[in-house]
Amino acid sequence: MKNLGFGTLRLPLTDPDNVTSINQELLNRLVDEFMTAGYTYFETGWPYHSQCAEDACRKAVVERYPRESFFLADKMPTYSIRTCSDYESIFTEQLRRCGVDYFDYYLFHNLGVERYDQCEELGGFEFLRQKKEEGAVRHIGFSSHDTPEHLDNVLKEHPEVDVVQLQINYIDWENINIQSRRCYEVARNHNKPIIIMEPVKGGGLASVPKEAEELMRKIRPEASPASWALRFAAGLEGVFMVLSGMNSLEQVRDNIRTFDDLTPLSLEEITLLERVAEIIGMNTAVPCTACRYCVEGCPQDIQIPVLFSIYNDMMRYGDINYPTVHYQHAVFGHGKAIDCIECRKCEKSCPQHLPVSDLMKDIAARFDRG
Ligand code: SF4
Ligand code: SF4
Repeated sequence: MKNLGFGTLRLPLTDPDNVTSINQELLNRLVDEFMTAGYTYFETGWPYHSQCAEDACRKAVVERYPRESFFLADKMPTYSIRTCSDYESIFTEQLRRCGVDYFDYYLFHNLGVERYDQCEELGGFEFLRQKKEEGAVRHIGFSSHDTPEHLDNVLKEHPEVDVVQLQINYIDWENINIQSRRCYEVARNHNKPIIIMEPVKGGGLASVPKEAEELMRKIRPEASPASWALRFAAGLEGVFMVLSGMNSLEQVRDNIRTFDDLTPLSLEEITLLERVAEIIGMNTAVPCTACRYCVEGCPQDIQIPVLFSIYNDMMRYGDINYPTVHYQHAVFGHGKAIDCIECRKCEKSCPQHLPVSDLMKDIAARFDRG
């Protein structure tokens, strides 16, 4: 199996302000391009696009290609589980939405410390084992954004898992919150094949500061910044799959070019990426990946990732991109940064461990009181 996977967290939209407005026609074309090039792995999730991504995946892949011609991965939304019967009802609904009678890979989604405790109490891993025995799931695993210590603990207690999914990219490799490198090493110590998520950091590494891009282009004039990020991820030993959320033909083609001719990073290129990471770090106020896990739980209906994106643009480029106008547009009909009541619900669901409520104060100072 080729090791580029099609992620469905950021599908093409017909209306950029509405995450449920998936552009099915374009998605079908992207899938065709991907499959024609010999790539076969698709990854979806319960909450993606406000629960519309699994349906879109069915329409684009399952209803248009023979079942044995592709691999489909889905994830159990650990954050939506209240009782043990929820496992069965959600799983059944996922099979229905995806239009399949088995998943090739099935993972617990974002199994952090608290959710792991609950999962153990409710017999989550027994459920996965049972589904594997029944043939409704071929491989089991979990994704984690938590500490390497927690990852090590889960893998010690559950040696039966087949794969782990980790956030790995060159900017988070040594990041003290994400700890990509240490998590990677733990998974390697347990001999688990690794699926990499966020290799391009939610698209953030596809568009890097000019100074960083110039360094990259000097060595490889034709290579996009995204291709550097993907080569970093795919070149790590033990990596079984690299997921990339693709929403344009250009992205699909660029990714295919990278993976068709995958060359490991040279020592010189690794050193260059360390410098690039420093430059990006200096230019990114808030390292939000726009995954939107925080949005639904916000009692003030604040469009958290949208406000972060505007704030980042403002910090990076100053006023040249009309950030105030974008801010006013973003808060129209939604909560403003100043409306944040510091309940911290968003922080509990943020895989990047961002201090959202503190950041809302900074944003409010700039846009609501400025
Ligand atoms: S802390 Fe603020 S931004 Fe976060 S969920 Fe609560 S109100 Fe929303
Ligand atoms: S604040 Fe955190 S949870 Fe919300 S979109 Fe950004 S990275 Fe995702």
